[in-house]
Amino acid sequence: MEEVIIIGSGPAGLTAAIYAARARLNPLVIAGNEPGGQVTLTNEIENFPGFPDGISGMEMYGLFQRQAERFGARIEPDIVEAVDLKVRPFVVKTTSSVYETKSLIIATGSAPRRLNVPGEKEFTGRGVSYCATCDGFFFQDQHVAVIGGGDSALDEGLFLTRFASRVTIIHRRDQLRASKILQERAFKNRKVEFIWDTVVEEILGEEAVKGLRLRNVKTGQTSQLDVSGVFVFIGHVPNTSLFEGQLELDANGYIVTDRYTRTSLPGVFACGDVQDPRYRQAITAAGTGAMAAIEAERYLAELSAEAPAATG
Ligand code: NAP
Repeated sequence: MEEVIIIGSGPAGLTAAIYAARARLNPLVIAGNEPGGQVTLTNEIENFPGFPDGISGMEMYGLFQRQAERFGARIEPDIVEAVDLKVRPFVVKTTSSVYETKSLIIATGSAPRRLNVPGEKEFTGRGVSYCATCDGFFFQDQHVAVIGGGDSALDEGLFLTRFASRVTIIHRRDQLRASKILQERAFKNRKVEFIWDTVVEEILGEEAVKGLRLRNVKTGQTSQLDVSGVFVFIGHVPNTSLFEGQLELDANGYIVTDRYTRTSLPGVFACGDVQDPRYRQAITAAGTGAMAAIEAERYLAELSAEAPAATG
């Protein structure tokens, strides 16, 4: 029987692991199908305090992991297939084992939102990408499109200028959501251009992506843009399908927590992007990870205080 299982190994999950391990709860982390989470897809993290020169997401993941293991956290490269939160102890079923645990910390993060247009599925991996760090290299001296107007679109679009000859950012409005510093960098970069008030209607190609069919949302006019790559950065959806019907989720599928990371079920805590539609930063994920572990520790202490004394 585990004291605490942590599902997910991004900044939230691994920070929870560091705190839970130091609290001598011997935490088990199920790393999931994307160990390290979304930070590992980030080329350079410039806003995590303590790294004044920036750090790559992969390097950060390595450091978090080392720190958690140093205090005894066990990190399993496994994937959770089902959880049963209706029974006590909770049951966590992975691809290789079935675990029982007194408490659970959910740090399953979120996944890139899809455009849901024709061609997207067919050309994923053949010109359609959700990760510039992973795939930018393949577009040396080519023209690529970036979809979105937030921090991710601009950050990743700027990163793509290292490889691509031209980066066209297509945004559905005429105002960017991205932070001012990224806007300034993008407007200054000669390889970056913008198409405003425009959405993608179809991704075109044969073997691989050849272009986009676009529609101006103000005029209704359609046009075609020839590109060999499309990078989609239009936000995220929380990874909560495992918990549907077992925990309270909000209208967008995020786990509802109180200000102490507690979910609708005592003993189950959630941290990081899976419960945060608002900030979604590595630093805030790490912060809520620490909170969840501290709360789990308190919950377990109360649980053992309530347990009837063993008779002998
Ligand atoms: P986001 O801030 O939610 O922005 C998503 C963008 O995609 C918005 O511009 C949105 O348009 C657009 N969009 C949404 N659905 C769309 C659709 N179906 N079709 C076309 N466009 C669509 O997401 P994000 O950029 O991934 O950022 C997520 C969080 O991570 C934010 O808190 C951000 O600050 C943070 N982040 C920070 C950094 C950094 O600090 N360097 C880097 C990356 C991410 P509207 O604007 O019209 O809604």
